[in-house]
Order: sequence, then C-alpha cells, then structure tokens
Amino acid sequence: MAEHMTPDEFRRAGYAVVDWIADYWATLGQRPVASQDSPGAVAAGLPAGPPEHGEPVEAVLADLESLIAPRLTHWQHPGFFGYFPANTSGPSVLGDLVSAGLGVQGMLWATGPACTELETVLLDWLADLLELPKRFHSGSGGGGVIQDSASSATLVATLVALHRAGGGRWREVGVDRRYRAYTSTQGHSSIEKAARIAGLGTDGVRPVEVDPDTLAMSPAALRAAIEADRAAGVVPAIVVATVGTTSTTAIDPLPQIGAICAEYGVFLHVDAAYAGAAAVCPELRFGHAGLEYADSYCFDPHKWLLTGFDCDAFWVADPAELIEALTVLPEYLRNAATESGAVIDYRDWQVPLGRRFRALKLWFVLRWYGVEGLRAHIRSGVALAGRFADRVHADDRFELAAAHPYSLVCFRLRADDETNAELLARVNATGRVHLTHTRVAGRYALRLAVGSPQTTEAHVDEAWQLLASTADALLPR
Ligand SMILES: *Cc1c(COP(=O)(O)O)cnc(C)c1O
Repeated sequence: MAEHMTPDEFRRAGYAVVDWIADYWATLGQRPVASQDSPGAVAAGLPAGPPEHGEPVEAVLADLESLIAPRLTHWQHPGFFGYFPANTSGPSVLGDLVSAGLGVQGMLWATGPACTELETVLLDWLADLLELPKRFHSGSGGGGVIQDSASSATLVATLVALHRAGGGRWREVGVDRRYRAYTSTQGHSSIEKAARIAGLGTDGVRPVEVDPDTLAMSPAALRAAIEADRAAGVVPAIVVATVGTTSTTAIDPLPQIGAICAEYGVFLHVDAAYAGAAAVCPELRFGHAGLEYADSYCFDPHKWLLTGFDCDAFWVADPAELIEALTVLPEYLRNAATESGAVIDYRDWQVPLGRRFRALKLWFVLRWYGVEGLRAHIRSGVALAGRFADRVHADDRFELAAAHPYSLVCFRLRADDETNAELLARVNATGRVHLTHTRVAGRYALRLAVGSPQTTEAHVDEAWQLLASTADALLPR
C-alpha cells in the first residue's frame, strides 16, 4: 500500500468511490437533513494522527459512511431549503473528476491552452444563454472568467474600480486617497470584506437605504450619498448593485443606478450570485433591465445551475483595465504566447496565480442538460416556490414577508419573533427539512429556498405540512 496507486488500483478504487456517491444520492431523502450532533463529535471519532502504514480506500470509505456522512448537513437533500441552494449534479462531479485527474495548472494560456480556451468559449456560451449585454462577450471586447466565488468576483471588481478611480495609479501606489464603495443595506457581506481587503476598511463602504416595500436600493439615496462624499473630498469608486439579494431576493433598479454611475464615472458591479441562473429562462430576465450600464457582472452556477462549488461566472466589459490592474509578470512565467498578445492569461483576471480546470464541470453540465434541461430545473424551482407561497398566502395565520420573484419564499407566522424562531427550530428538529431565517425590516422571517435537484412537490408539501402542524401547536386556535 505504500506505493503510488497504479492506474489499475485507481480504476478499482474509483469505481468503489463512484458507487458510494451514487448510493449516497439514492438514499439522501431517508437521511436526516442536518446533523444534530454537538461540536467535537467528529473530531472525537478521529485518531490522533495519520496511519503509519497506508490503508486501502475501502477503509476510508467505511469511515466516510459511519463517521462523516451522518454528521453533515446534506445540501443535496430534497428537504434542504436553507440559505440558497448549492447544487451539484452527476455531470458536474464527473467533469470535476476529469479536472482532478488531469491535474492541469491553468494559470497561463501556455500552461494548458485548452484550459483557457474552453473557459473563454463557455463564458461566451453562458453570456448568450443568459442574454447578457453584448459588451461582456469576448467577441465584442469584453470577456468572462470563472472565479472561485462571487466574493472573489466582488473583490476583483473592487480592485479594478480602485485602479480606475485612482487614474490608473492604484497598482503602483495603492489607495492614495479616501475612496468609497456603495451597496444597499441588503448587499452581501462579501462587499464589506472586499473593501477591507482592498484597504478601504469597513468605513469605506456606505450602506445605501432601500425602498421599504421592495427592499431594493433607493437611487435617490445613492445619489445623495455620492454627492455628499464628493463634497467631502471622498472619491466614489464602485457601486455594487444586487439582482436577488441574499436576504429576500430583492432586485436593485439597475436603470437608475446605472445612470447615476455613468453620470459620476463610478464603476458598477452587478452581483447576481444566486438569481443570475434564472436568466437561462427568457421569462426570468426581468433583473437584467439596465445591465448594459454594468462594468462587471457575476453569478454563481454553483448555487442554482447544477454545477458543484466552486464556480462563479464573472464578466467584465473592459478586460484591458482588469489586466492592467492585476498583471504581474515575473521572468519565470515569460513565454512567447503571452508576449504575442494573442492569448488570454487568466492569472491576470483573479487574485491567485494558480487555477484549476473548472470549465470542465461546466462543460459537462451544459452538454448533459442542454439549454432545455437547465430551463426545466430553474422553472421547477420557481414553480415549487410559488406552490409553497400559495399555501402560506391561503393560511391566515401566516404572511409572506417579501416578494418571491425567484425560488426563495420569506414568510412568518403573524406572531412575535420568538414564536417564529421556535417554529423554525421545531420544524428543523424533525430532520425532514432544513430552513433558515433572516430579518426583514427588523422582524424575524423564515426563508424557504427551493433548488435542490431532488426536490419535488411532495417535499415542498411536506415542508408546508410540518410548518402548519407546528403552527397548530404554537398557536392553539
Ligand atoms: C451567496 C451570495 C454571495 C456569495 O457567494 P459566494 O460565491 O459564496 O462568494 C454574494 N452575493 C450574493 C447576493 C449572494 O447571494
């Protein structure tokens, strides 16, 4: 066992691992959605150090089954309705397996040409599939890249925005004045994190008020914030608008926000991490109005588009600006292809140097499902969420806490926060479903996000029945 695994040993062990995953998927619905163990349970079951002598893969699989799998939250479970979905799928896993097997480092075009070119083409496919503005297409001067996460996309957008706001001097001198980033009070926490990493600090992010009904960014409040900052000598660098906020899937009004950004020369990044996937369906592209103003845009195929984490699709309208901000070329990476200027070196489009062949899993997914398969998946999530929202609406003990344009429903009992928190705790304790919560205008609300590939009407109905019967117990009629 101490030898390297031979190709034949790999073949045998690999079949066993694939069998294990297939069995896991086939039995998912019978497992409790989330572990009820207390902290330390897994650590206590592990030995103090690695084995002295190598062990067969079967020994690891046995521990996976007995120790690890029972103590997970099962994100692919048909009763998983927490946070946002984090889809995976058979073709995604297989594409990722090929990527792992190839072990290619795609930092430069020259270090694996197909790794770069497949990614460029797939991001163009996706741009067309989502009907993004032409300016993001590589054939029209723009371009796409796969980042590990929407958080990284926001960080990269922030760095490019600072480079632009600093008159192209940011990469030499760093942050030389007071710069500011703007997002709504509902913007994702990664925007603040990006600002900290970029040297703006938390105070460098100005939360912009939202419309109390739609929870979307108020353009008037954005304008007022930008004007006040300019008057105070602060340079507005970037606005991050959101299509589908994390808390409630609110949609910021891009036409007005974009016009303000254009007027003041502020970089506009649009974060559609979860909701962007919906745009594979023509009838769900309403969030795109005004997107032609955006300098950059991203969404996560790893949330609702059947591609396993990590896969964030990020586009910029002006790759030259991005490359200028981030490129560093040490002697040992010099090569003729880079010097020719005819190739893309994606290391200049992201924070790390190294990169894996992530395009493979996306390619496997796009080819397995086809456009119609992707649309069916999204439409199923939207329809199931609508079905659940109808139940909530029809029961006068409950109320919807926000609009549900996609597959997230925010709702609550017409009762105090404590009762709602108790409702969530009791329903989750059944092990049949897993929901999470948020606050809408300060009040506690439950979130039911549909999108796991195995979820059907029966699972959504079961979630509703558990909620309704728990409400009976909490609020005796
Ligand atoms: C989930 C989410 C993010 C963060 O996504 P990662 O890819 O995990 O970084 C950012 N923005 C919004 C709106 C999100 O919903």
